[in-house]
Amino acid sequence: MPVSWSERRVDWTSSSNLDERLNRWSECASEQSQLLRDESLTRRSSLRIGGSAKYWIEVGAIDDLSSLLACLSDSDFVCVGLGSNSLFPDDGIDVPVIRLVGELAEWNVRSDCDGDAAKVEVMAGVINAHLVRGLLADGWVGAEFLTLIPGTFGGAVALNAGTREKELKAVLESVWIAARDDEQCCWHLEHRSVRDLEMSYRHTRIGDTTVVVAGRLAVEQGDVEAAQKRVMADKERRNRTQPYRLASVGSTFANPDGDYAGRLIEEAGLKGEAIGGAKISSLHANFFINDDDASAEDFLKLMALARHRVRHKFDIELRPEVKFVGFDGRARMLELERELEDRDV
Ligand SMILES: Cc1cc2nc3c(=O)[nH]c(=O)nc-3n(C[C@H](O)[C@H](O)[C@H](O)COP(=O)(O)OP(=O)(O)OC[C@H]3O[C@@H](n4cnc5c(N)ncnc54)[C@H](O)[C@@H]3O)c2cc1C
Repeated sequence: MPVSWSERRVDWTSSSNLDERLNRWSECASEQSQLLRDESLTRRSSLRIGGSAKYWIEVGAIDDLSSLLACLSDSDFVCVGLGSNSLFPDDGIDVPVIRLVGELAEWNVRSDCDGDAAKVEVMAGVINAHLVRGLLADGWVGAEFLTLIPGTFGGAVALNAGTREKELKAVLESVWIAARDDEQCCWHLEHRSVRDLEMSYRHTRIGDTTVVVAGRLAVEQGDVEAAQKRVMADKERRNRTQPYRLASVGSTFANPDGDYAGRLIEEAGLKGEAIGGAKISSLHANFFINDDDASAEDFLKLMALARHRVRHKFDIELRPEVKFVGFDGRARMLELERELEDRDV
């Protein structure tokens, strides 16, 4: 087990105010953790969109996480990774935003390996590309598809991230999650099998008030050169067919069964379409990019337009793959869509 909760108990009830409680938490936390105020979210998302996080909390130790969650037991919060699949609101996020770093961004290949096969315990804050580099350097293959998925391991678990080659669920065995027990008003750490998470295409049963803390992956000793070649070939394909280096969240919509969201948006005549600073890429129509200081509202308007046109032309409802973090972006997108219906655009 890579983690366990500390038994240390702090009585948070004496300070009713969130600001005060977070100050107290920050004073008690280890040096690996820090509380930043009014942190710009544009720096924290691959789309470079968003106002400020009132509280940006980097948590670098398991004891700090357990005390932070206890401190937040009656308030909302969000947990993010690198923001590679997140749209943040223009007016910022008032609830605490948590990012796992330090010892919560490490991994360890278990020493009780079975011949050529091994289990890797990965803390959720690990950056996918760092993990893959480290595993390949020691001859472990099987997880290299993750290197082309920008973000952290926790984000990949929360979304069952994947490529054409593989989804995370193919190599993930179990996860440790911190879950709120609403009846007891406390948090506990649960070890769940991957089956419990009901992972499917870009979906898991992980709720908004759940923190993925760690996971266990299956890897094996194998042909590192062949694995690197596969990754390079996919990278080369992506560079040719996707605006991989521009500000985006990758695919904006999930592919509907048996089809591609990019094809549908392109056929609906929207390639290159722009609203404000947000633009549908001319290279790949499912990549919506921040072309020129876009706002979240610009992005949502473009999403609403794409859904509206695709529904009218193909009778297909596109499901957002991007996550609206810290606000109800879905409700706003639907409102914008209704306005388009009313104007019959
Ligand atoms: C250029 C580009 C290409 C991409 N290509 C792919 C691809 O091929 N395949 C693919 O699947 N995705 C792809 N993506 C999307 C993105 O890389 C993945 O969704 C990735 O898994 C997001 O990880 P993150 O850490 O950045 O998550 P964030 O964007 O930070 O968070 C995403 C969601 O996960 C939740 N979350 C994050 N960490 C935790 C945690 N520890 N506990 C609980 N919830 C958490 C957040 O609350 C949020 O709802 C691409 C993105 C870009 C920019």
